Amino acid sequence: MHEHRCLVCGYEGDAEFYPRDYMICGCCGTEFGYDDRVLTHRQLRQRWIRNDFPWFDASELQPPNWSPIRQLIAAHFAADLLEILVPSKSASDNANVGFHIPIASKESRIPFQINANAA
Ligand SMILES: [Zn+2]
Repeated sequence: MHEHRCLVCGYEGDAEFYPRDYMICGCCGTEFGYDDRVLTHRQLRQRWIRNDFPWFDASELQPPNWSPIRQLIAAHFAADLLEILVPSKSASDNANVGFHIPIASKESRIPFQINANAA
């Protein structure tokens, strides 16, 4: 299940898409096997979120009423979303995009305001 789902942005690709073998996600633009050799999926995800969720492939239609926030939450990436949209760190920490991302699991402190922030 979800074998066609992007491991970075949570986008459900079509039947041809798998997040591996140099396939490129039409949504976030991650090339699997290339981009994720340098950065982790989480780092790539956080970069995409910080860049305001750019849709990568102009030739691939966005799903109707596409919401990157809903997509991330459905793929259980809400923790990364919250960390960036509701920053608890100083502005200088946030300036180190992609290079100073704490590795510790955030799963244990997902707050319950997810719906409020996604609305
Ligand atoms: Zn993606």
